[in-house]
Amino acid sequence: MNQDIQKYKNILEDKLKKLEEEIVEIAEKESDSTWEAIQTETNIDTADRQDVADAVENYESNSSITSTLEREIFDVRDALAKIETGTYGVCEVCQKEIETERLDAEPQARTCELHMN
Ligand SMILES: [Zn+2]
Repeated sequence: MNQDIQKYKNILEDKLKKLEEEIVEIAEKESDSTWEAIQTETNIDTADRQDVADAVENYESNSSITSTLEREIFDVRDALAKIETGTYGVCEVCQKEIETERLDAEPQARTCELHMN
């Protein structure tokens, strides 16, 4: 399993980089692990109702994407920390090894297939 861990580490590091690149496009970093979606600038003087509605909608969709990315970044960082401490690939519920197919599909998985939800 040791070579596999190196493989997952590379995948996770790559993934973390991409996620962080993605999130900075739509959000500002508030602290080490929290992000706030960027509010689209709307010029109140010239904006009509549609502009304002678009900006609100845009912000809401950015907020929801931000939460998803934030969550994913958190999980990926956690998985990388587990690699360091030697607890990577172990289900958080039953403490059994997580299936290889599951880790291949989702390297930051916290649980085995049985405890996915
Ligand atoms: Zn389990």
